[in-house]
Amino acid sequence: MRRTRRRRGRRRSRPLFEVPPKGVLGVLAVSLLLSIVISRGVMPVTAVRPLEGQVVFIDPGHGGIDPGACGQTYTEKEIVLKVALLLGSRLERNGARVVYTRTGDYDLETPDVSDVDARIKLMKQSRATVALSLHCNAFTDPWERGAQVFYNASKHPDSKKLAQMIQDELVKSTDTEREISARLDHFILNHAEMPAVTVELGFLSNPDEEMLLGSDEYQEKLVTCIYEAVFAFITSQ
Ligand SMILES: [Zn+2]
Repeated sequence: MRRTRRRRGRRRSRPLFEVPPKGVLGVLAVSLLLSIVISRGVMPVTAVRPLEGQVVFIDPGHGGIDPGACGQTYTEKEIVLKVALLLGSRLERNGARVVYTRTGDYDLETPDVSDVDARIKLMKQSRATVALSLHCNAFTDPWERGAQVFYNASKHPDSKKLAQMIQDELVKSTDTEREISARLDHFILNHAEMPAVTVELGFLSNPDEEMLLGSDEYQEKLVTCIYEAVFAFITSQ
């Protein structure tokens, strides 16, 4: 962002006229500042919020006593939470309302409701445009790697399209060679009334990919992939 320069020594100059009341001064200062900023094109007169009115449901998997998959250094619950919050704030900056299942390290279990049922309930109540569940994978073979998107086409016909759009972005920007898959029995996919996907961000059982997944830079890259695809999906509806 460009900044307006201040002339040195300006504060020392004496006023040549009577000082107006403080409130008037404040209004004048704000008006002057706004006119400078707007005339220089630094700030748009009205912010563009293309996702205004849209609701996005984001479910960072696991949490609390359930760490999910565990690598040597990182756990699934912490990585999916970081990516979820970054993704959510980018969606919010562009006007969307985000409904999270969790925004910290906890699960949703209560004496009356299981964690799974609580997440399903939140998703249904959200009436979201799309539902995204974020997870990390793990496998016995440490060579397995790559982000992959899952869907359940029997629940909503557009889930496959959303999955493909996210997978395409991931293939373009990361080294995954994986394809979308309908072979995942996941409660979010099985109960979604809106287009829904589960994004497996990568394999924590692969030491190289684990380091990537734990890095801010790679998390931002994953967020950009998911955001771009979700944005394109929503705005193409
Ligand atoms: Zn998981």
